[in-house]
Amino acid sequence: MLDLKAEMGLYGDAVRRAALDTLDSGQFIGGPAVGELEAALAARLGTRHALAVSNGTDALVVALMGLGIGYGDEVIVPAFTFMATAGAVARVGARPVFCDIDPSTFNIDPADIRRRMTPRTRAVMVVHLYGRCAAMDDILPLAAAAGIPVIEDAAQAVGAKLNGRTACAMGTVACLSFYPTKNLGGLGEGGMVLTSDESLATRLRQIRNHGETQRYHHEFLGGNFRLDTMKCAMLLAKLPHLAAFTERRRRSAALYDSLLAGSVVTTPPVMSGALHVYHQYTVRCDRRDELKEFLAGRGVGSMVYYPIPLHLQRCFASLGGKPGDHPASEAAAGQVLSLPCHPMMNDEDVEYVARQVHAFGGTQPSGHRNEAAATALR
Ligand SMILES: *Cc1c(COP(=O)(O)O)cnc(C)c1O
Repeated sequence: MLDLKAEMGLYGDAVRRAALDTLDSGQFIGGPAVGELEAALAARLGTRHALAVSNGTDALVVALMGLGIGYGDEVIVPAFTFMATAGAVARVGARPVFCDIDPSTFNIDPADIRRRMTPRTRAVMVVHLYGRCAAMDDILPLAAAAGIPVIEDAAQAVGAKLNGRTACAMGTVACLSFYPTKNLGGLGEGGMVLTSDESLATRLRQIRNHGETQRYHHEFLGGNFRLDTMKCAMLLAKLPHLAAFTERRRRSAALYDSLLAGSVVTTPPVMSGALHVYHQYTVRCDRRDELKEFLAGRGVGSMVYYPIPLHLQRCFASLGGKPGDHPASEAAAGQVLSLPCHPMMNDEDVEYVARQVHAFGGTQPSGHRNEAAATALR
């Protein structure tokens, strides 16, 4: 699913140099590398502020704390996402209110958001799942009408776009993860909170450092959510590769789209005006578990993200979720399979995987490699 060792051949020297420079500097918390990483990502993604934090999960917690969300508050989240999205809401004492997804995009369904809003709804937390932006054109006006902020969980979507707008710059506040498997993976844990709201940015900075407003003056509670200097320096050394890595993911996805036509899997829809960064290339298959095993037998890794929707997780049992509450999420959990789609793959690798999928279903690859499709920006 990923070849981080091979990637090291591309950026290893720069990363090692960054690590050694940090060691020689003797400064391990704060310092220029932190600010440089923050400025680079804010500029790239189009926000005024960015704060490096300990990890992507903490980024969500910090964003919620910054918005003053806590006990008695409700936050709308998709039922089909990684645990951290709803976990962060619960950890600040608020109630995650699960919404179903749009089955074609796997992202939160705006119509269901509207249905589940109550006077206690204090925020909508969208997830740009697999690297595709949620339906922000519908969600932002809904939230604006209710007077509540939108939090973007963009952990899987660095660089994704929708109608010319960039993920992280659409909502009130956004969160990234630098977990090593993410599109901008770091060398260890890491995350970021981004916003263009001046006073929110100030508050987020204080929360990152124990709610400190001036040295040893704490007006409210925060925590230690800082990101180490060395990790920031190493991420800066990797950053120049992100654009090419994203292009490679998109090329592989376009190849899969054409090569998997007529196979037993349903490929993710291509939508005009959207730049999908394919953190995952995720198909649907009725015989998903069989396909996964078949691929494994032919040397092809694949993963199920995610096998259990969050309203059915035991840790959320007290919220009263039951099977049937979110049918599209439950169907997706039983059908999704993510195929290898990482920066070190070449066209032959993609073709090999596609051939195995056809072999599983007894179908033939109908077309051949479609260069135009592979290179076209979609
Ligand atoms: C990875 C991920 C997170 C959490 O990030 P960590 O850095 O692992 O804490 C949150 N939300 C989504 C959708 C993710 O994929």
